[in-house]
Amino acid sequence: MAIIVAVDAGHGGKDPGAVGPSGTYEKNVTLAVSRQLAALINRQPGMRAVMTRTGDYFVDLNERSEIARKHKAHLLISIHADSVANRQARGASVWILSAKRVDREMNKLLGQQDKHTELLGGAGKVIAEAEPNPYLAQTILDLSWDNSRSEGYSIGEIILKHIGQEVRLHKHQPQHASLAVLKAPDIPSLLIETGFISNPQEEKLLISSAFQQRIARALFTGIKRYYTDNPPGGTMLANRAQGQSQGQIKHVVKSGESLSRLAKRYGVSMARLRNHNSLNSDELRIGQVIYIPTS
Ligand SMILES: [Zn+2]
Repeated sequence: MAIIVAVDAGHGGKDPGAVGPSGTYEKNVTLAVSRQLAALINRQPGMRAVMTRTGDYFVDLNERSEIARKHKAHLLISIHADSVANRQARGASVWILSAKRVDREMNKLLGQQDKHTELLGGAGKVIAEAEPNPYLAQTILDLSWDNSRSEGYSIGEIILKHIGQEVRLHKHQPQHASLAVLKAPDIPSLLIETGFISNPQEEKLLISSAFQQRIARALFTGIKRYYTDNPPGGTMLANRAQGQSQGQIKHVVKSGESLSRLAKRYGVSMARLRNHNSLNSDELRIGQVIYIPTS
């Protein structure tokens, strides 16, 4: 199985995005960078890109994360260019969804029972089949969202490190904002502002294919670095990592998995798992890494 990255070129069609001082449309810059990024991902064995738009047409913000989910993306990365009144502002930045927006979206989702199964996979099915229990749904949604956001933040930090070596940064840490394209509770989602299209010098950079290639490569290197260090279970990179690690298998806990189930699945006693991972409790959380001793 490949690591799937949804690459989202911001704006498009009737929505040009920001317009630079010399008339550059953000939607064209985002598509060019996204194409470069997708090409790099697709050239990497074990990774595959899915683009939410491949041409100059309009895609609704909700539809963008739906496309990512349909293709079972591990990550959604939305490409944009910044714009402010102050023409001096410059540099790239990375954004994740704010906690405030999470609360708002959570309340919306809790009201839409039909969405639970789709968003929560097996756990959603358990909820749907159990007695109606809004607290259970909320707890699981909470866990899933926490997990996606903290993973998104970690990927954002690594990406910043890599793009910071290539281009100027506006902010050195991932920033939080209420951005609709990032609101998938089940997919780590990041928005990248590649530079300020409102700054005349950066506008020139943003339309040059050399700069587009440079930022796409830095994004790709950051993403690849993250997944090489943290391969999701069942993917090719994970299998490779397993082969390299000595005497143990790395397992990332998915919804519905318990310590006893892992023990059964890998043929190891629960006591050994507890011991090997220094666990104080048998309670596992989604996304937790458990090492399975194999020798
Ligand atoms: Zn934008």
